[in-house]
Amino acid sequence: MRYSRKCVSEAEGYVPGEQPTDGGYIKLNTNENPYPPSPHVLEALRAAIGPQARLYPPPTADRLRDKLAEVYGFSRDEIVVTNGMDELLSLIVRTFVEPDDTVVVTYPTYMLYEMLVRLHGAKTVSHELNEDFSLPDSVFGARGRVLFLSRPNSPTGTMFDRRLMDRGVRRFDGIVVIDEAYVDFAEDNCLDSVRQFDNVIVVRTFSKSFSLAGLRVGFGIAHREIVDDLMKVKDSYNVNTLSQIAGIAALEDYEYMRNNVEKIKRTRERLASELKAFGFIVPGSQANFLLAVPDGYALSAEQIYTRLKEEKKILVRYFPMRRLENSIRITIGTDTEIDALLDAMKNIL
Ligand code: PMP
Repeated sequence: MRYSRKCVSEAEGYVPGEQPTDGGYIKLNTNENPYPPSPHVLEALRAAIGPQARLYPPPTADRLRDKLAEVYGFSRDEIVVTNGMDELLSLIVRTFVEPDDTVVVTYPTYMLYEMLVRLHGAKTVSHELNEDFSLPDSVFGARGRVLFLSRPNSPTGTMFDRRLMDRGVRRFDGIVVIDEAYVDFAEDNCLDSVRQFDNVIVVRTFSKSFSLAGLRVGFGIAHREIVDDLMKVKDSYNVNTLSQIAGIAALEDYEYMRNNVEKIKRTRERLASELKAFGFIVPGSQANFLLAVPDGYALSAEQIYTRLKEEKKILVRYFPMRRLENSIRITIGTDTEIDALLDAMKNIL
């Protein structure tokens, strides 16, 4: 089997989820959506493939920004569109952080924040999440250019308290990035914070709820001055023509996304209760994945991950990192995929 990896992360010792190229795996490791994109998206893509591919894409993605503005209740100049959210995270660092500046992160969270900051020559200060993965108030008292918060947090799936966030954002003397990659699977969101505070960027992606990970579309919503700065630094043609068209079509079929999200949430609750019945500890998740801690088994989390992969061709995620070394993270698949996972677990445990 061959894997592709992101070298930016590899350079810093962070290994992203495996992407097998030989097929045949049940893939529950990188939080993709198990359902295909909306038929309306596929139709729009097919209609768009043609001679116009010779032209550069619209540089500021105005039609997509207008559609996002309409759907989320903002104006075009409060929105920036990028080649996946990962590009936006990197753009934020390049725009607002100077080498030698400090950026505040939490632990454990999405490791890319720290990698991007370090590759930029800046420093991170990391605030440990509480035992139950809630947010320590101290994080907002820290000094730094930028504070990255993932809500729901990855890889724990847990939510930070909204009131604590609002109080904290007011106190933080820099830009607060609220990563809402998984927010469509959650009970609330922080878009109101953008309306209330001029130092907040909410960042989102079409990769998860909209099933478009392969097309790489992300976006940020923030005060227009922040968006202005980001637009100046981004590459001219950062989002390709087909991705812009797919984003617009996905928003036009918002209902399709909501239906898939509801299905995934039902499967998530079923998997959580089955895993608990097996004796796993499962923190409450509001994302499309679960963190599961095997409790009292002869096999370690790493062994479970390896045996699922090698014997059952099921990929889940294992993080050989402090506080996570006894956990696996499982993406919510279709009900059939989750049944296969549960069968496999009964078999190996
Ligand atoms: N933020 C978090 C917390 C994520 O888990 C991911 C997906 N790995 C991203 C951002 C990046 O998403 P995208 O596919 O849009 O680059």
